[in-house]
Amino acid sequence: MRDVERIRVLNSSVDVLSFQTALDAACALAKDHTTTSYIVAVNPEKVMIAQRDSFIAEFLERADLLIPDGIGVVVAAKWLLNKTLERVPGADLAEALFRVSGERELNLFLFGASENVNAETERVMRARYPDVRIVGRQNGYLPESEYDTLVARINASNADALLLALGSPKQERWTATYGARLDVGVCMGVGGAFDTFAGAVKRAPVVWQKMRLEWLYRLVRQPKRFWRQRRIFIFAARVLMKKLILTLTCRRREE
Ligand code: UDP
Repeated sequence: MRDVERIRVLNSSVDVLSFQTALDAACALAKDHTTTSYIVAVNPEKVMIAQRDSFIAEFLERADLLIPDGIGVVVAAKWLLNKTLERVPGADLAEALFRVSGERELNLFLFGASENVNAETERVMRARYPDVRIVGRQNGYLPESEYDTLVARINASNADALLLALGSPKQERWTATYGARLDVGVCMGVGGAFDTFAGAVKRAPVVWQKMRLEWLYRLVRQPKRFWRQRRIFIFAARVLMKKLILTLTCRRREE
């Protein structure tokens, strides 16, 4: 995977790659069981969590694939590094794994979200992609005392990819703690993606997505998330500040 360029945005790394490259890489990692690889979707919230939480920061640095999930990261890369990134939304990459799992013979295990949402995600994906390969599922609310049994179940299921929908940073912590004991090729945190697959949470209409305002739609629809999503605004303020400093430094050099 290291032929992919990795850049740094506000002290967090992110990979420069297209959606198709990300999908091909995810499939290749899933098939390789010699080690358990990790895919992390990088967005402003996660970059800000990493600034305060060294455990998460280290986990991100160790990831095999850091996909540019949030539009904020794409914009920041352009402004601060003049680097054009293609946005690779984690939810889209997860859906693509369901879509190609049949033809690429990838076994998927779904872990996370409420029991209803988790079961509905499996139902929806089986209806959408009849040859999908889902080999097991578990809601995200089982007690910690049952995590060992879950690890054994995942390993016995012959899964290649484990999709974790526990939200951040819980899914990253879970992966960091149990990943080494898993016999899967790849673990990927998908946050609230199962909620949108199951229809429990509506994804932003395409017009909002095109205007790059998916994050705002989410905030308007779920105002309870404001406290968590405040990190998006802190991220934007940091990017603006850094851009200002860069511009001023360049001007001084030119004078
Ligand atoms: N969740 C879970 N177990 C927990 C806490 C959360 O399975 O102990 C699930 C929750 O039901 C939801 C997802 O994790 O489906 C979190 O979604 P959110 O949109 O908050 O995640 P984000 O994408 O913001 O990280």
